[in-house]
Amino acid sequence: MGIIKTKWLEVMENIPNCPKCKCEYVYSDGSALICPECNFEFQPEDVAEKVYKDANGNILVDGDDVIIIQDLKVKGASGSIKKGTKVKNIKLVEPDDGVHDISCKVPNFGSMMLKTSVVKKA
Ligand SMILES: [Zn+2]
Repeated sequence: MGIIKTKWLEVMENIPNCPKCKCEYVYSDGSALICPECNFEFQPEDVAEKVYKDANGNILVDGDDVIIIQDLKVKGASGSIKKGTKVKNIKLVEPDDGVHDISCKVPNFGSMMLKTSVVKKA
């Protein structure tokens, strides 16, 4: 019991604002966070900001330039994207397929989705 209590205290120290109405008086009932203004219930991890990391664990942000670290086969294209290709101005997205979280333009290939695990920060 003691361990669980401590865990919740830690969570409560940095309770986020309500994601719906931005109210700061969100409280915890022990299993969910509840907004007193709009009654919205959510979990702390629902509002945690997603961090995107490259193959080396460096944090990537929108607008970064990255270098592809392995040859990538491209569906429908004759060649593959070569290791070492530099991709400028990436955009990080919530992946539709749960995997490809970089939206970018690859030279000679055009717009496509890549995985953060196959790039490193340039
Ligand atoms: Zn609210």
